[in-house]
Amino acid sequence: MSPRRSKHNINLLQLLIAGMLPLLLGLLFTFVESRLMVKRDLESTAQIAMNHAENISTQAWNMVDRLQRFHGQPCNIIGDELQRLGSVFSYFRAIGVIHNTNVYCSSTFGNTLTPMSRVIQQPLPVRYSERWSLSIAGSDNVKERPALIFVQMPLTGYGTYAMVDAQYLIDLMMAISKIRGYQLILQMDNGHPIQTGPAITPRTGLFSTAALEIKSNRFPITLNVTAPASQEITNWKQAFFTFLPLAIILSLLFTMAVWYWQKRKLLFRDEIRKGIANSEFSVYYQPIYDAESRTCTGVETLLRWRRSNGKWIRPDIFISAAEAESMIIPITRHLFDLVASDIARWQVKPGFHLGLNVAAEHLHHPSFVSDVHRFAEKVASHSLSITLELTERNLISNGPEIIQRLHQLREDGFMIAIDDFGTGHCSLSYLQNFPLDCLKIDQGFVSAISSPDEEAPILDAIINLSHRINLQSVAEGVETEQQLMYLQQRGVKYIQGFLYAKPMDNESFLVWLHYNGNKSIESFMKKNEEGKKND
Ligand code: C2E
Ligand code: CA
Ligand code: CA
Repeated sequence: MSPRRSKHNINLLQLLIAGMLPLLLGLLFTFVESRLMVKRDLESTAQIAMNHAENISTQAWNMVDRLQRFHGQPCNIIGDELQRLGSVFSYFRAIGVIHNTNVYCSSTFGNTLTPMSRVIQQPLPVRYSERWSLSIAGSDNVKERPALIFVQMPLTGYGTYAMVDAQYLIDLMMAISKIRGYQLILQMDNGHPIQTGPAITPRTGLFSTAALEIKSNRFPITLNVTAPASQEITNWKQAFFTFLPLAIILSLLFTMAVWYWQKRKLLFRDEIRKGIANSEFSVYYQPIYDAESRTCTGVETLLRWRRSNGKWIRPDIFISAAEAESMIIPITRHLFDLVASDIARWQVKPGFHLGLNVAAEHLHHPSFVSDVHRFAEKVASHSLSITLELTERNLISNGPEIIQRLHQLREDGFMIAIDDFGTGHCSLSYLQNFPLDCLKIDQGFVSAISSPDEEAPILDAIINLSHRINLQSVAEGVETEQQLMYLQQRGVKYIQGFLYAKPMDNESFLVWLHYNGNKSIESFMKKNEEGKKND
């Protein structure tokens, strides 16, 4: 595919999502924050008004208690003192002394006997305790302004009362209402609701009214605060515009990161495509030693990439990049072509093993079986025994169709091996479910052997397991004589590793096979030792 085509592969949707994400998250975050802000504000506002109402109540009850010394005394004796107290504490609209349910002496009307119900301009509470308080719409002396009355009044006998002008409360409540546009309603013991601010009808939806009710735990005071929906909108706008510069920076950064990531991906993909087109890939073959026949009875194919500038790229790097960027299937098909043309020059016995590494994505792809068959047909004249090397990872997301596919391939004459056995963090149950022929013991377990007598319990367990379930075993990465002896003593039939032979290009492999293919591994070791001595 040409580089021009790949420009169109820039995913605009991904870029758009990356750009919009911080903005959308910002919208959401500031929306939630605006709700919380209103809630916090309602709480603090209500608390201020409540504290004030509680202070007033405390002072009023102090006055009620102070007046108790006048109990039962005639008005002509206490009247002047009541008037004096009333004017000293201008806070109070009226204070006075009660007999039964009548005020018989007060700071405002002197010794006029007035029923309490008239003082408060409403019937007495149906049930009341000896001490009660009430918010009222008006009193007999000031009818048009609410007040709070605090009364000590036994069913019979003497009592006292103090009445506070609600204006002291209203002033503060109005100040709050004015700043925030909140509605405040204060009620003392189900009395007259004292209200400031606009009447707000509850609204639900995206932006809703918010309401809070608090009760005093010292006095029978209830306070309701309601914020209009507009408060949430104002808060949200404020929060969003504060966050906006950060959101814009984040959205630019995200877009750039995604763009860069896409570009890199395309680059690598294009590089692999170019590499295939320019024949930069080749195949190396690593001989596998058969300890029974004491000859080389097979190879593993390993892909190599040498860039046009002469630089080699490590297989684990380009293979995982190809896997990540959906290039593993084209690259494997290319490998099949390269191997098929290499094999055309081979002269090997029928049944010679050829190991092919299979990537998970390819195994799960519908074309896998036909790809493998096409390859097998090309090399059919050599009657090779082709082994497909799968890693445990390949089998994790297994479905019945993969098992079915592997059964089919085995029936068609392919062998199935588990590569890097023991490193896949897999449960062993797949060994029962999958049709397998061979375990390739990972070199990590082999390298744990430092002498033939030393114990390598996990390796032993793997070898025993393969014997028990009748699978062939291949030890990978065999580098030392000790490792070889250890493995041979335990009946591992196939040996692969630098001790026997390194991976080689086709040319070198053919020469190697010609001279060494029928030699036992011991003769190699002798040769190695002689080589070392001569060095
Ligand atoms: P693998 O399939 O486990 O391949 C064996 C690796 O061990 C090869 O590395 C080989 O060169 C290395 N090796 C063999 N003997 C020894 C030894 O005695 N000592 C040490 N230290 N290493 C030894 P390589 O060629 O670098 O490949 C690395 C991995 O890349 C392979 O691991 C395989 O997973 C992947 N790979 C290579 N070629 C292909 C391919 O054509 N297709 C796929 N899907 N993966 C491939
Ligand atoms: Ca392998
Ligand atoms: Ca391996």
